[in-house]
Amino acid sequence: MPLYTDTFFTCYVLILSFILGTVFGSFINCMASRIVAGENWLKGRSHCDACGHVLKAVDLIPVVSYLIQHGKCRYCGKKMSSRYMWTEVCMGLAFVGVVLNYGALNFHVLRDWALICILLGLSLVDLETYEIPDGFIIAGLVIWAVTIPLMKLDGVDIGSYVKTGLLGGVGIAGGMLVISLIMDKILKKESLGGGDVKLLFMVCLYLGLAQGLLCLILACMIGLCFVLLLKKGKIAFGPSISLAVYLVLIIGPEVVSWYFGLF
Ligand SMILES: [Zn+2]
Repeated sequence: MPLYTDTFFTCYVLILSFILGTVFGSFINCMASRIVAGENWLKGRSHCDACGHVLKAVDLIPVVSYLIQHGKCRYCGKKMSSRYMWTEVCMGLAFVGVVLNYGALNFHVLRDWALICILLGLSLVDLETYEIPDGFIIAGLVIWAVTIPLMKLDGVDIGSYVKTGLLGGVGIAGGMLVISLIMDKILKKESLGGGDVKLLFMVCLYLGLAQGLLCLILACMIGLCFVLLLKKGKIAFGPSISLAVYLVLIIGPEVVSWYFGLF
């Protein structure tokens, strides 16, 4: 938990992590709304949804711009949704949580930051469209594969890291695919979306079998809470899985070793 012996440097790392989180949160929020609107998410300038005025750099500072402008557009005065600001704050805190979890800035931190960025993006899109674009899954797979050699620098045995990941991905996603196909036959409707199975495969590569299973249990519990709270028959499962992944990244290893310590 205490990062470095130097308090000043610890504060510097935590503040920098928070700011980075808000910047990525802002970027992904914008990207997700463009994907939902069917726009090109790489091109085009950010603009006010109400008046269409192109936003300047000063309007795009995460959290700060929203607070300075009292949540209103500087050009037309229309109130903006606070969703953007809260997503940025949450991402800032999420980034800080990852650093605190590892107790240092290392390659696991960078890998997990990248993963939670992907999870935020697909959750925001899934909430609006009930679909998880394959691009997010592919990005997650590529980052997992590309960062394998970097894990060695954190002192991880690459062979068992890859084996654990593949076992988790194939085991959990494969199991869920079989269960969902059986449920589809019984209920005569789609029980679990194909995007959710692909998402489980991708995240369980990062988590492995034991933590992947914990993630699945937590995701079902979170999903059930959403169903009860929102009183909707159909909910997007992507955000529940994403939230569960974050919890497992933070508390998973402790919970799993506690569980196996029982036997
Ligand atoms: Zn405006």
